[in-house]
Amino acid sequence: MNWEKAEQKNLLHTYKRQPVVFVKGKGKYLWDVAGKKYIDFFCGISVTNLGHVNPAIAKVIKSQAGKLIHCSNHYYMPEQIKLAEALASRSFGKNNTKMFLSNSGAEANECAIKLAFKYGTENSEIISFTDSFHGRTLATLIATGQEKFRKGYEHVVNGFRYAEFNNIESVKKLINNKTCAVIIEPVQGEGGINIAGKQFLMELRQLCDEHKLLLIFDEIQCGMGRTGELFAYQYYGVEPDIITMAKSIANGLPLGVTLVKGKYACLFNYGDHGSTFGGNIVSCAAAVKTLSLLDKKMLNKIKSLGAYFIEKLNELKLQYPKIIKESRGVGLMCAIELAVPGDPVLKKCLKKGIIINCTQEKILRFLPPFVIEKQDIDILINTLSGIFKNM
Ligand SMILES: *Cc1c(COP(=O)(O)O)cnc(C)c1O
Repeated sequence: MNWEKAEQKNLLHTYKRQPVVFVKGKGKYLWDVAGKKYIDFFCGISVTNLGHVNPAIAKVIKSQAGKLIHCSNHYYMPEQIKLAEALASRSFGKNNTKMFLSNSGAEANECAIKLAFKYGTENSEIISFTDSFHGRTLATLIATGQEKFRKGYEHVVNGFRYAEFNNIESVKKLINNKTCAVIIEPVQGEGGINIAGKQFLMELRQLCDEHKLLLIFDEIQCGMGRTGELFAYQYYGVEPDIITMAKSIANGLPLGVTLVKGKYACLFNYGDHGSTFGGNIVSCAAAVKTLSLLDKKMLNKIKSLGAYFIEKLNELKLQYPKIIKESRGVGLMCAIELAVPGDPVLKKCLKKGIIINCTQEKILRFLPPFVIEKQDIDILINTLSGIFKNM
């Protein structure tokens, strides 16, 4: 079967896919149809963070799928409550946290955006940031601070203004009596691993307090341990009012969470929001297990591996100053910004059995699973070095 041709014939052409078909995964490895083995430094966009087919999580999924897969949010689901309790106890506390469960990142943000507009007055506005990414549904698309995504849809959703990332003055300029909330990724993912300054986030929190604005952290990519803390807000020591999560929360099954500080929970009432699949039983059971595996030991491992990774990327930059403009990262969320297009480098890595990602055309983004070891990082660095040497 020619999958490339069949895809072109049957699916809308929304994805520019790499020419490979993966059929099996285990831990940090993937195998393609021809049996070739790859090391995964991308995790399907930071989703399978605890490794492909993590045995403990797969066991929970199998067990739950054998009992009940779906009922409906018309009924109580213990798995949802167990997940909510676990997330609450590791964030704002059991008596100060409520959440809505959905299926994806965009939906988690849609819920946060709906809450924020309910919190605001009529015609209220939300401030987001340049180079942000918040999803592909209509509202999250307009929240996204990149014109290339919004083009052609601006007339459908109003109410978003764009401040410059890491520039507090640009936020101050946009605040008026209609502003109701600020949404930000503490570490921008799709935008190229752009790291918010601690001072900037502290001032943003202060500004939101002064003007009574909701502060929403989109932790869909940078949460769930990526920074070395369970939540990115804990890495910064700056508390938002709402946190959105998805991607890796169930290590591969679809699930979105909009976590809200208790005092804002009353913004929604019966019937104000809903989802047929939202908070699916199997996904929630997988998420409870995922969360339990993200313990102190795992977070410490992420911190030390992250420090090693960035050190190696910095060395690589010194070695190839004409090719690498910048190296940056926090925890296991790292990138190098190139002076040349990144796609050819990505394709060469793929040939050599290493999966990486390229975003914003020139930024190589690395989102490895937390089960990698130092020697895997060495393999990646040596491979990149070999590629750069011949450029
Ligand atoms: C991926 C992502 C989203 C969108 O999530 P989907 O599950 O693709 O809808 C939103 N925000 C951030 C920061 C993301 O990385």
